[in-house]
Amino acid sequence: MYKHILFATDLSEETDFILAPVRGMRGYTGAQLSLIHVVEPLPGYSYAYLGIEDIEEQLIDEAREALAKLGEKLTVQKDHQWIEIGPAKTKILKIADEVKADLIICGSHGRHGLSLLLGSTANAVLHGAKCDVLTVRLPDNGI
Ligand code: AMP
Repeated sequence: MYKHILFATDLSEETDFILAPVRGMRGYTGAQLSLIHVVEPLPGYSYAYLGIEDIEEQLIDEAREALAKLGEKLTVQKDHQWIEIGPAKTKILKIADEVKADLIICGSHGRHGLSLLLGSTANAVLHGAKCDVLTVRLPDNGI
C-alpha cells in the first residue's frame, strides 16, 4: 500500500473538496503525508507594471502561511510542507521524486473546449508522474 502521499494544492477554496479523500487515503494506508504548493512567477513585465519589486517574496510568504494553516488542519509537520517556485507541473513532479511519493493527489476540473486543448495541471501531472495519481473531480466553474 501507499507509503508516501503528496498532496498538491493550489491553496484555493477548492482545496476543501480534496481534504476528505486526502484524509481517507492517509487513514486507510497510514502513509506519510506531504503538501506542496507551487508559486508560479508572474511574467517579468507584470512586476515592472505593478511597481512592486518584492511581489514574489510577498507571494511566497502568503503561500507559506496558507500552507502552514493547511498543515495544521491535516496535521502535517513543517518539514513535509513544500513551497516551490516555477511551473506547477514540473515542481510537483520534482518533489514527488524527491520525497519518493508513491501517490500524488490533486484536483481536476471537467475540461472542455480551449482549456481541454491547453491541458491542465492535473493532466500534466497524470502524464508525467512515475507513481500513481489520484485526481479528485472539482465542481464545474463554468469555464
Ligand atoms: P488546474 O488544472 O490548474 O486547475 O489544477 C488542478 C489541480 O492541480 C489543483 O486542484 C491542484 O491539486 C493542482 N495544482 C494546480 N496549481 C497548483 C499549484 N500552483 N501548486 C500545487 N498544486 C497545484
